[in-house]
Amino acid sequence: MGTFKAIRIDKADKGTTAALTQFDDADLMEGDVTVAVEWSTINYKDGLAISGKAPVVRRFPMIAGIDFAGTVIASGNPQWTAGDKVIGNGWGMGETHLGAYAEKVRVKGDWLVRLPDGMTTRDAMAIGTAGYTAMLSVLALEKHGLTPKRGAIIVTGAAGGVGSVAIAILAKLGFHVIASTGRTSEEQYLRSLGAAEILDRNELTGAAKPLAKELWAGGIDSVGSTTLANLLSMTKYGGAIAACGLAAGMDLPTSVAPFILRGVCLLGIDSVMCPIETRRRAWSRLASDLDRSKLAEITQEISLDEVLSTAPSILAGQVRGRLVVKIM
Ligand code: NDP
Repeated sequence: MGTFKAIRIDKADKGTTAALTQFDDADLMEGDVTVAVEWSTINYKDGLAISGKAPVVRRFPMIAGIDFAGTVIASGNPQWTAGDKVIGNGWGMGETHLGAYAEKVRVKGDWLVRLPDGMTTRDAMAIGTAGYTAMLSVLALEKHGLTPKRGAIIVTGAAGGVGSVAIAILAKLGFHVIASTGRTSEEQYLRSLGAAEILDRNELTGAAKPLAKELWAGGIDSVGSTTLANLLSMTKYGGAIAACGLAAGMDLPTSVAPFILRGVCLLGIDSVMCPIETRRRAWSRLASDLDRSKLAEITQEISLDEVLSTAPSILAGQVRGRLVVKIM
């Protein structure tokens, strides 16, 4: 038995502490597959867990991090053998099960997805939970029957992780994408990802009317609150909004008008407990429908040591696109 490097969260008198330390192999939790982690990433939820700003962590001590990609080093699960390249995210990792900011994780083999052909472990974490959630949202809109012929798609929180990947995927699929952002200085970046129009997010933050002019057939919203309410009131007859985030708040001050007068649907997106078949479909579609050169454009690399100092900036809405964390 040895030790490995990890970012550990402990309970303190007031809130929690986060530090890069050595963790004992003997303290790994139950699981039938052990993985040497190569890459992780920083998502909004990781920012919350490290800063202690929301009760994400529900077991102490905890290793933070909800996302990893790496190589299986030991397996008691018939699906996996040493040397397999895998992706793991959600299922309570970094919340109730020891997480991904670590050189080693032990998890249930049933949680893992095989790395798609042609995708590197670094690519997988450049996508991460944010990008996979963007794809879950696209899958939900497609299931609702939305095609480019039905009209434009709006993406909120456009310069963030979910938003950036969503724009790149939707543009590649041929949709007219409207990017809503508070960082209009990022217009060039958003257009390079495939946004056809840029909308200042202030246009969507006031109190929503029950119904407003129909502007888009669908949307992917990572912001919540009045922004989501405005999106719903401006959605065309029969359209749908995939709701996946709460960057502006958990509330939803809306009315039933878009639902009962325009047949608009609100599609809930959860990445954490999403069934494995849907995960496999999402990762397979990410392999085919996300342009790698665009992924490279939205990705910056940091080290495990830099996670602690970088995490607060994602909560401040200052991170553009995606951050990958090099573990080993
Ligand atoms: P990021 O911080 O990368 O992106 C969020 C973006 O939202 C920001 O870049 C900013 O975009 C915008 N934003 C931030 N604060 C506000 C505000 N007060 N009002 C309006 N817009 C704001 O985070 P992620 O992309 O990683 O995650 C986005 C959201 O999705 C988070 O709430 C996260 O918890 C949620 N999420 C949910 C998942 C699920 O399973 N349902 C999985 C993954 C993420 P801009 O500067 O362009 O305006």
